[in-house]
Order: sequence, then C-alpha cells, then structure tokens
Amino acid sequence: TSSGTAPATSDATEVLRRVFGYDSFRGEQQEIIEHVVAGGDALVLMPTGGGKSLCYQIPALVRGGVGIVVSPLIALMQDQVDALADLGVRAGFLNSTQDPDERRTVEAQFLAGELDLLYLAPERLLMASTLNLLDRGTVALFAIDEAHCVSQWGHDFRRDYLELSTVHERWPSVPRIALTATATKVTHAEIASRLNLERARHFVASFDRPNIQYRIVPKNEPKRQLLHLLRTEHAGDAGIVYCLSKASVDKTAEFLVDNGIEALPYHAGMDKADRAANQARFLRADGLVIVATIAFGMGIDKPDVRFVAHLDLPKSVEGYYQESGRAGRDGLPATAWLAYGLQDVVQQRKLIDISEGDDAHKRRLATHLDAMLALCETVECRRVQLLAYFGQDGSPCSNCDTCLSPPESWDGTVAAQKLLSTVFRLQRERRQKFGAGQIIDILLGKNTPKVTQHRHEALTVFGIGTELHESEWRGVVRQLLAQRLLAVEGDYGTLVLTDASSEVLGKQRDVLLRREPQRAGSGAGASGT
Ligand code: ADP
Ligand code: ZN
Repeated sequence: TSSGTAPATSDATEVLRRVFGYDSFRGEQQEIIEHVVAGGDALVLMPTGGGKSLCYQIPALVRGGVGIVVSPLIALMQDQVDALADLGVRAGFLNSTQDPDERRTVEAQFLAGELDLLYLAPERLLMASTLNLLDRGTVALFAIDEAHCVSQWGHDFRRDYLELSTVHERWPSVPRIALTATATKVTHAEIASRLNLERARHFVASFDRPNIQYRIVPKNEPKRQLLHLLRTEHAGDAGIVYCLSKASVDKTAEFLVDNGIEALPYHAGMDKADRAANQARFLRADGLVIVATIAFGMGIDKPDVRFVAHLDLPKSVEGYYQESGRAGRDGLPATAWLAYGLQDVVQQRKLIDISEGDDAHKRRLATHLDAMLALCETVECRRVQLLAYFGQDGSPCSNCDTCLSPPESWDGTVAAQKLLSTVFRLQRERRQKFGAGQIIDILLGKNTPKVTQHRHEALTVFGIGTELHESEWRGVVRQLLAQRLLAVEGDYGTLVLTDASSEVLGKQRDVLLRREPQRAGSGAGASGT
C-alpha cells in the first residue's frame, strides 16, 4: 500500500474519488480545499462529523511536500495513520509514545519525501529538533486541528497551542488551516487572534445537526430513567453516558451491567491501560455503552453512536453541544438526552464558588452556566436556542422535546412569593438557613422530626403551599435558581435570597415558570419523591 499517491498535478475532485472513494464534496469542503491548495490560510468552523479532515488531507495530497497535522489527540494518531494507510495514503506520526528508533524511522521517511501527512502533538512540533527537521524537508501545509485548544478558559486549553503562531513566522509561505468544531463568537475571535489568522479566510458552517433529537427531562431517578431510555428506544445501540464524577461513572456503569446492558467505564482515575482498552473496545465493538466523564470523547470518530445521555448538567452550552454532537455522526437519527434537576444547579453553582481563578473568571463561568440553564428551562425549540447561542438562525425543528410536546408555562408569581417569603422568614426571624428539602416541607406543612425540632410549624408560612406537589415545588426552586431569583450558599446547598428576590416579594415582578412535563412512562418504579 505504499505506492506513491500524491501526484502534485491531480486536482482535488480526482483525489476525493480515487483516494477517498467519495463522489462529491460536502458543504464548503471544495471551497476550503481549493483555497488551501492555492496557498491561502483558512480558519474552519464546522460541527463534529462535518468532514473537517478532508479539508487538510486533500490539499496535503495535492500540494507538493508533506502536510503537517498538529493535534492534541496522541491516543488517536495510530488509528488515524492506520486508516489513511488503508486508503493508500502515506502517513506517520511523531509523539511521546514512540521509542527513539520508531521516531527516527518516521523522520527518515519525512526527509526522503515518503510521507503525505505527518501528525504531531503541539509540544513535539515546537521542539527545536522537530523545527530543524521540518526545515530540511518540504512542508505542504500546517493543519491545526482542535484549534479551540488555544482558548484559555475552555476545558481543552493547551498551553503549547499558544506558541503555534510561530509556525507562521518561520514558514510564512506555507498555508495554514486551523479547524475546530467549537463555534461561539468568543472562541472564534480568540482562535483568530491567538493563531494570527485574522486575515485568513474564515469558513463557518451551519452548526445544526438535524438528525439529533434534543431532549431535556426533569431528573428524578436518573439511573432508572436512563435504563428506561435504553430499553425502550436504544436497545443494542452504541451510546455515551456522561457523568460529572468518577464515582458516578463507576456506579452507573455497574448499574447498567447489573441490568443486562453491556457498559464500560471511562475516567481519569482509572488505570491508563484499562481506560485505553475500554475506549478501543467501544470504538470497535457494536452496541456498547461507554459511561464516562467529559475526559472521554474529543476526537473520537465513531459514526454510529446512537445516543448521548447526560446524567449531570454540563457546565456550558458549548460543552453540551460538543458532547451531544458525538451522537449521529453518520447522519442517521440519534438522541441527545439530558436529565437535569435542582441538585445540578446547586452543585454547579458551588463548583464555581470554589473554583480557582479571579472574580472575572468566576463571572465568566457563571455566564456559561446561566446560558446552559436557560436552554434547560426554555419553553421554545431547543435547537433554535442552541443555534442562537452560536449566533446562527434556526426555525422550530419538530425534532426536539419542546417542539414535539410543547411545554406550558404558568404564572408562578404567587408560588415564588410563598417560597421566597419562607426563605425570608427563616433568615430574618430565625436567623436560619435551610436547603430546598426543609423549605418545601414547611410549605407543604409536613410534621417531620426536623420541622418539630426547629418549631417550624409555628411559622406563618407553614402549610401555605399545599396546592403544589413536592416535585412541583422542586421545579419551582430549580427555576428560581436558574432565574437568579434565589441563590445557594455553602456546602449544604442552603437557599438564600438575592437582590432580585425582593422585587418578587415586593410584587414588582411576575415570575413565569415552565410546567414540569408529566413523568411520562418512566416505568420501573420511578417515583421521584
Ligand atoms: P469531523 O472531523 O469534522 O468531525 P470527519 O472528517 O471525521 O469529520 O468526517 C466525518 C465523516 O464523514 C467521516 O466518516 C468521513 O469519511 C465522512 N466524509 C467526509 N467528507 C465526505 C464527503 N465529501 N462525502 C462522503 N463522506 C464524507
Ligand atoms: Zn425544536
């Protein structure tokens, strides 16, 4: 398979057909490829599954020399190189997993002009020895994959990415193409400025993933709700389940296995070899479920992932979009399912409180969380809201939960007043703070031991909220938190008033709430109370 496949004269379409076996380009691929082949710089924003790889692979084959691909995904390089070899493309990689002999072999191939593509980790590219190596060969282009890694506050930040602009200074005439599936305006601008690509041509694809059905449901018994989803809609399907903590990854994987579903855990606390083995099994086998923290997934190319389920709230809309976007890369119907509850808001706000970094950083995290909460609580089309977050237009999609069964909104002003005045009374009259559970027990007039112990039955607000069920009250608390009409404090999730609370208490402000959907067929004894 090592016959030369890079005649410099062949045009892009011919390479597309002969090497990759595809009939036509997708979206803006052709324009991007022609621009880079002609020596232009490009910044490509395209969703996962959009077909970014061809945008640098074909120009590397068409132009003379070797295409240098910078990627942080060392673990995937072997797979990528093997896949290209199957197509007859001569590719190699240099990274820290190789021994010196292996590296020397690849270096010799590079110098002899025997490679079409060379994959490098950013830290490897920036080593003096690598820079010198590249000087001695011919570089066709630099592709900077996962370019959002330059973004300093994203969770994929790589310090070495900041240095990649030096490539341009050293080889000014070699075209550069930076690619990412991240799309917010902020990240876009950050990539352009940090990689010195302001004057490059920018290609921004639509971020809509029409085959993904978005669903966000109230969290009652998350593991049982998940099991129900898998049994009723995704039996035998491959999927990814995201959890916030390593402990919940382990517990959830165990739970699924106990219930007859083939599931594997994946998190940073596991032995490296076990983790790699689970990832490899997931990629190769059919119908496996991987339960993971968000450490799993960047660059994973498994086209037939039929569902992505979140058991915990993602920290940002971007994170949610990336993670859910790993479903349905083959274009066939797929589900993005998220279970979300009061405790998620409490927990995420707490994580921001205790996070490292200055106030500006915390405010930024809080803004991200607020946008995510707004997506969860919206009564409008999820897709429209998701695309709007990326600055793109959309129209109601008929393929998300709010389109399929439009939620009602209701005037929650009186309920909010009752709840907030309970918090107010405890705080002002008793100098006490409690979590949602106790506040709701007071509203419902429940004589629990904790109520008796604190003589809460003597409060004037005791029992004034029997018109709603406990789960409805939890929905009220959650939505008030999301709207910042209520805040949480400390380790125990105690509820406190905010400046905006007084507007509600002072009857200057109405509160519109989303009605909780009926607990539709959660089956298997999901009670939620
Ligand atoms: P991304 O890197 O943007 O997530 P990939 O480059 O991995 O996406 O492409 C996703 C899938 O689409 C791959 O299986 C790829 O082979 C396929 N693909 C890309 N371009 C085309 C095309 N023009 N025609 C058909 N399939 C394509
Ligand atoms: Zn919709």
